[in-house]
Amino acid sequence: MVWVRSYFIVTLAAALLAATNARAQPASVVQENEYAKVRVRIEKDLTQYPKNLTARFGSYTRHYEVIIKDNNKYDVVEVVPLKHYLAGVVSKEMPLAWPLEALKAQAVVARSYLFSRMNERREKIFHVDADQMDQVFEWTNSTKAYQVVNATEDIVLSANKKIVKTFYHSDCGGQTLPADKVWEGAVDLGTTQDPWCQARFSNQWSFSVPASEFQNKDVFEMGYFKNKIIRFDEWGIQKLRQLFGYSKIRSSPEKIEVSDGSVTFSGRGFGHGVGLCQWGSLYMAKKGRTYMDILTHYYPKAEILKIQSLLVKNYLTNNENPKTILNKTDMKSKVTFNN
Ligand SMILES: [Zn+2]
Repeated sequence: MVWVRSYFIVTLAAALLAATNARAQPASVVQENEYAKVRVRIEKDLTQYPKNLTARFGSYTRHYEVIIKDNNKYDVVEVVPLKHYLAGVVSKEMPLAWPLEALKAQAVVARSYLFSRMNERREKIFHVDADQMDQVFEWTNSTKAYQVVNATEDIVLSANKKIVKTFYHSDCGGQTLPADKVWEGAVDLGTTQDPWCQARFSNQWSFSVPASEFQNKDVFEMGYFKNKIIRFDEWGIQKLRQLFGYSKIRSSPEKIEVSDGSVTFSGRGFGHGVGLCQWGSLYMAKKGRTYMDILTHYYPKAEILKIQSLLVKNYLTNNENPKTILNKTDMKSKVTFNN
């Protein structure tokens, strides 16, 4: 709590308005989980006090807190009701033109990730960043985004009765990776060979850097998971992606060649490769698979739970275990997994 006290919180007039005059979107939009307010950091390290915060989104009054930090910079935290937050994330993290079942899978994964972060950060001043640090969020009025959030209401992924931090990415390039091999301490929810995204040829990439970047060595040790290289000498691949650019080393490479003074990385896919493969889920949905099929495919070790709103509240406040109402076996559709 010391950390929190070192901040000076300014609550804007809009917040007071929100308390007394909270107007909702159409009823179906905000019925769920009124209690759950997500604290989203929408701006960080501003050098000037933010003056252009919009007071409303449609009929909804927005609620901001401006945080003045020890370095005299400003962060803006917006308090967003759960359903609006999830619809906003779905609309930014997956194209809304994609099939409903893929979007529903995205909604469940976004919800599980969020709850896990809210639990981790319940003593902190905000729960999630509104960018790629967590999940990209922007207000939306897309009916489709709210539709998939409503259709999956209270459904989350868990392991050992704890809601888990679910990772997802654009395109696994044919093989997903175990979370705990990519990030220390992450919970592995299983991996899969992924025939679904392999239909894409546009996902091949390669990138070369001068060997001098690696002290002109020409022998390196590589660590593999299946056909994917997840470690290159002392570097984890995510570290290398961060150093050279996430759009340059687009995923865990399948080949790294050292010749003629350069190191060439090549592979397929885009992203860290852990959890849900969005392109794969697009093709699964197009072939008639349900969002439950998609989740079961990409998180084979996870349990799919429907938790009651009250239990979510308990979970977020005192970490009480959510009660299992559904499990994977109950929910599995009758469609078998064949191409
Ligand atoms: Zn894939």
